[in-house]
Amino acid sequence: MNPPKFVDVGMSFPLSYNVSAEKAIGITTTIPIEIVYAAGYVPIDLNNIFICNRDPDAIVDYAELRSLPRNTCSWIKGLYTSTIKSGIRRIIGVIQGDCSNNHALIEFLQSEGIETIPFSYPHDRERGFLNHQLGLLAERLGVDLEKAHKMKCVLDKVRKTVHEIDRLTWEDDKVTGEENHIWNVSTSDLMGDYLLFNTKALAFREEAINRPKLDYDIRLGYIGVPPICSDLYSFLSKLRVHVVFNEVQRQFSMPYHTDTLTEQYARYTYPYDIFYQIKDIKREIGQRKIDGIIHYVQSFCHRQIYDRLIRKHIDIPILTLDCDRPGKLSGSMRTRIEAFTEMLNNIK
Ligand code: SF4
Repeated sequence: MNPPKFVDVGMSFPLSYNVSAEKAIGITTTIPIEIVYAAGYVPIDLNNIFICNRDPDAIVDYAELRSLPRNTCSWIKGLYTSTIKSGIRRIIGVIQGDCSNNHALIEFLQSEGIETIPFSYPHDRERGFLNHQLGLLAERLGVDLEKAHKMKCVLDKVRKTVHEIDRLTWEDDKVTGEENHIWNVSTSDLMGDYLLFNTKALAFREEAINRPKLDYDIRLGYIGVPPICSDLYSFLSKLRVHVVFNEVQRQFSMPYHTDTLTEQYARYTYPYDIFYQIKDIKREIGQRKIDGIIHYVQSFCHRQIYDRLIRKHIDIPILTLDCDRPGKLSGSMRTRIEAFTEMLNNIK
């Protein structure tokens, strides 16, 4: 069985996923979806609506026509158009722990009549603050946290299958880096239907277990936000590179065992400081026996600043790739990736 394919919303932008606009709640980054599901709503990751569209470049163009600046991150422009054109009427906006571009986007969307429900991650992972935020979100959606906690127990089982798919990638060499990317990135909203997601994930896992092992030369880690370019994984695979670690995507799957919602979202690394993320990356480099890292940075993203700190604290070869708009890798990016993998082959 193939990994899940997102519903193609096409340029006519009907609301994808099988849900009415009243029940849909757009998300721009990972938030506690347990609360959304427990309240009877359907979380829809607008990043997926954007990047799975048959013409994501046109989505960016549309946002620019609506006066979002050219020198703004393309993911932000994609989120804008996907919200406006999908028919989604409300979103959960992360106002601390995501990015300043996103803060401005939320206000921009508010000015166009989109209802925004705020959520904040504490900068220092302070449990009391986080617990309070979870309570506020639950109250706003009309559900109590006890019910959301029960939903966590249900979703933990669904995520466990994705953790097994991740293990089949790096330990058993049965799952490609691209499949790993798709399954992990899809956990941000569980495709708006966690039961269907679970069925598909279990079927994929069974199929993967019975495959032959992958044949490759290099074990690579991918860190940074998910790529906006469409052919990075297929290009790496042609170079006999096996991507055994998708850092941020894996974080979306809540990879650690936790007993409470508060602990789960306190251990999730993405909204917090870079040093906390680096600890997780270093642990996985050792565990997964990674030869080199691609650090993907999105043009006009503040996270580019972290590149120096990542290079300072991670002592295996790193290639930093910067990409602006959706589409295929440019010729110069391909040349740099080829040179990097050749270098990794030479030092092995
Ligand atoms: S890539 Fe960076 S700037 Fe763009 S939405 Fe993500 S965090 Fe924000």
